Amino acid sequence: MPHPADARRLVPRTDFVLAEPAVAQAVSRLGHESVKAAVQAAQALARAGEISPDDVVASTLAALPERSTTLTPVLNATGVVIHTNLGRAPLSDAAVEAMRAAAGTVDVELDLATGRRSTRGRGTLAALLELLPEAEAALVVNNGAAALVLATTALAAGREVVVSRGEMVEIGDGFRLPDLIASAGARLREVGTTNRTTLADYEAAIGPETGCVLKVHPSNFRVEGFTSAVPVAALAALGPPVVHDIGSGLLRPHRLLPDEPDAARSLADGAAVVTCSGDKLLGGPQAGLVLGRTDTVTRLRRHPLARAVRADKTTLAALEATLRGPRAPVWDALEADPDRLRARCDALVAALPEGLGTTVPADGVVGGGGAPGHTLPGWAVALPESYAAGLRLQPRPVLARVERAHCLVDLRCIPEAADPLVAQAIRTVVG
Ligand SMILES: *Cc1c(COP(=O)(O)O)cnc(C)c1O
Repeated sequence: MPHPADARRLVPRTDFVLAEPAVAQAVSRLGHESVKAAVQAAQALARAGEISPDDVVASTLAALPERSTTLTPVLNATGVVIHTNLGRAPLSDAAVEAMRAAAGTVDVELDLATGRRSTRGRGTLAALLELLPEAEAALVVNNGAAALVLATTALAAGREVVVSRGEMVEIGDGFRLPDLIASAGARLREVGTTNRTTLADYEAAIGPETGCVLKVHPSNFRVEGFTSAVPVAALAALGPPVVHDIGSGLLRPHRLLPDEPDAARSLADGAAVVTCSGDKLLGGPQAGLVLGRTDTVTRLRRHPLARAVRADKTTLAALEATLRGPRAPVWDALEADPDRLRARCDALVAALPEGLGTTVPADGVVGGGGAPGHTLPGWAVALPESYAAGLRLQPRPVLARVERAHCLVDLRCIPEAADPLVAQAIRTVVG
């Protein structure tokens, strides 16, 4: 270590450090200002004699974050397929690629053949209508809640939205659908009771003040026992347009989730529009879909609120790629073969110190407000409970689930190629 006075003289200049290839590369990733601040911090350490002047570059690089965002990619070992706190549906590679391509300048609202303005995201809308011929028209907005508020506002602002008391749901984090609808100016006309609502309840409430009838899928809870609700077909026969919030975005029935409503059946039964999320069972980006009759979708599209909730170009791109492209990762997780999951767990146990982990039966769930009460049979690796916190704090965090006083590592939602990363993370916690 040179004498402090010499050290000060030997400290490399800022432009010299910034010109180092690794540092220049960091500038392109993180931006000039944040890298310069790291260089200056390293120079200060060298001047104080705390590091050698030769180590300024290394110290700069060591202090820099890996990404220009604080969002940290994590491995979802919870067994909850659509985990809202973990960003819901992970996108397919095709959707990520589409998003990247659309991130620059794109023809999102321009017809290249004529050079004129055209329908925003028309390719995405076409993909939706091809997959769902039951819908005459479609609209994409920011999320499911926006789709619902736009529908009820466009159809019933200043008038009434007739809704069953059994469907007045809170979607999470304190947000309640009734408040959401009322906030945009429609009045709620509640009918029936929490567990039972009949067609006569709706009939008694419908009148000149009715803007629409709303049916909401109680997607995050289940009422059992003495219950009844009125199906879409019966509601549609009442006259006013029926808005059906199906929640999770299943376009057609799926054998794995028999109780989950889907857009095709709802529209065939006479719903004027169906609303749903793009990032639940559809497996795409955060988005809200409105699917249904041309006259109703047009009313929504022309409403001023539509402009406030319109989807971004990268969302439209990722959604189209999800609809047209390979199967979305959420479906790999939902349909994961239990035997294969067990074999992966056994391989993981074998990669750990003797006796640390055990393969145990563990059910996954759909999550994200979808198919409540429905479980997905599978397996997990049980570790001592204390591992959960350690795994969460790894550079590539692994989110496990704590159950029955164990830390359960469920591989259902983890791409098989990432299994070695999970093993590595667990071994690091041991060490
Ligand atoms: C999830 C859900 C919503 C909200 O959708 P977001 O895309 O989260 O805004 C609304 N209604 C139902 C029934 C849902 O399941």
